Amino acid sequence: MAECDGNCNSCASKNTCSDTKKLLAQQDKKIRENMSKIKHKIVILSGKGGVGKSTVTVNLAAALNLMGKKVGVLDADIHGPNIPKMLGVENAQPMVGPAGIFPIVTKEGIRTMSISYLLPDDKTPVIWRGPKVSGAIRQFLADVAWGELDYLLIDTPPGTGDEQLTIMQSIPDIDGAIVVTTPEEVSILDVKKSITMARMLNILILGIIENMSGFVCPHCNKVVDVFGRGGGEKAAKEFGVEFLGRIPLDVKAREASDKGIPMVLLDCKASEEFKKIVERIVEKVEGKKE
Ligand code: ADP
Repeated sequence: MAECDGNCNSCASKNTCSDTKKLLAQQDKKIRENMSKIKHKIVILSGKGGVGKSTVTVNLAAALNLMGKKVGVLDADIHGPNIPKMLGVENAQPMVGPAGIFPIVTKEGIRTMSISYLLPDDKTPVIWRGPKVSGAIRQFLADVAWGELDYLLIDTPPGTGDEQLTIMQSIPDIDGAIVVTTPEEVSILDVKKSITMARMLNILILGIIENMSGFVCPHCNKVVDVFGRGGGEKAAKEFGVEFLGRIPLDVKAREASDKGIPMVLLDCKASEEFKKIVERIVEKVEGKKE
């Protein structure tokens, strides 16, 4: 089909298409400039909701921050933004200046942006269709003044929809995607779709993390099986991607997370695992070891 040059009479107003194209091209340029100041960009995906994708994002960010990296977290889950609460900055309001929208900075120094900072209160839902959601994400990529960062982690909603597509198509030089799953079959089934989508868009899969993999007994501190374990590792083998590790379900860690304290800041099993996983991600992304 021939591309519209903006001069056809079917458009609601003449030149609409070419004006929109020009605006999108300008925004693309801004996104490229903004993202070029960030050394590594990683997308966090999950096929299914509730598997702990936001928890993993926040803890990877906190672990990277502990390693001395400058880190930003973009909450691209427009309909269910949880990152601000998990980072303990849910009531913050971003400043806007000529340089753009300034990210909120946590007391540990992690920079973050989320639609939730721009909503009047935590009861207001975002009731937007796909194009508006994609527009908001593109605006975050173009207009948030992240500054120079070592890592930008992008938390996406579950599934393979508009948000993931917009992120993967708009950010140049994404280092890769990390896929989060729980061990059970239904979650693994959806993981395969996330991997296939990323591959169709030429995004490297850095690896799979199996969350809620066993349960940390509060009495003996040993990890016991709940939903079974090993589904993530099996999926990793099937797709020829790295299995990055397993994080146990840890009640102590969940309580801290609800208070805005990332688990990696605690002395617990989940924290140990996160730190190992982050070391491997850094090795992979910074090219020290393949
Ligand atoms: P998703 O982003 O996939 O929807 P969340 O990260 O919001 O999932 O996690 C859902 C809930 O499970 C949250 O209350 C979170 O604190 C809890 N959670 C996630 N991972 C763990 C874990 N390893 N141990 C304990 N609680 C966890």
